[in-house]
Amino acid sequence: MQKITLATGNKNKVDEINLIAKDYDIEFVLPDGDFNPIEDGKTFLDNAFCKAKYVCKFKNTELYLADDSGLCVEALKGAPGIYSARYEKTAQKRIDKLLLNMKGIKNRNAKFVCAMVICNKKGEKVFEVQKECLGSIMLEQKGEGGFGYDPIFFVEEKNCSMAELSKEEKAKVSHRAKALNEVLKWLVKNC
Ligand code: IMP
Repeated sequence: MQKITLATGNKNKVDEINLIAKDYDIEFVLPDGDFNPIEDGKTFLDNAFCKAKYVCKFKNTELYLADDSGLCVEALKGAPGIYSARYEKTAQKRIDKLLLNMKGIKNRNAKFVCAMVICNKKGEKVFEVQKECLGSIMLEQKGEGGFGYDPIFFVEEKNCSMAELSKEEKAKVSHRAKALNEVLKWLVKNC
């Protein structure tokens, strides 16, 4: 089984990615050291590249996969975007702030975006992709599953909030799943 380091310190993210990749002979693993990269890019792809380059110094696998994701709201000119994780201090405060900023706004179109970059041991980018999951911002939160902005994100194709989906259902429709499927196709062809 091929092992690929995932540029994250979050074990839940590793589990979510491995669930999406369960039919492949690939295992994504945590980095072999502390994960404290500086994310100073201006785009999701820039930040994913920063993270991939940061973890390839551990040299524990041949390839390093990084993702960077966030929520972009049309009426807020794409905010919180690359600042999604830093919009407020806690997940609940981030939801409350977004609902407040959306008060009275009719256009609630939004999308989750996920960029993924693969680097080799030398820190060279060998593949990149960016995918989206379209939806809208709900008037109030609903559902207990998922994380982050999931309770206020209405998934068009499922007719419910992202937080109301099971892990398996989210693994079929999410921005991360769509990007990872392209990564997996590339790995099968090139490795
Ligand atoms: P990161 O790419 O892991 O740094 O994620 C950035 C931030 O975007 C997270 O902290 C969440 O607030 C938000 N986010 C990214 N993906 C999702 C998702 O699938 N559901 C809910 N929020 C998400």
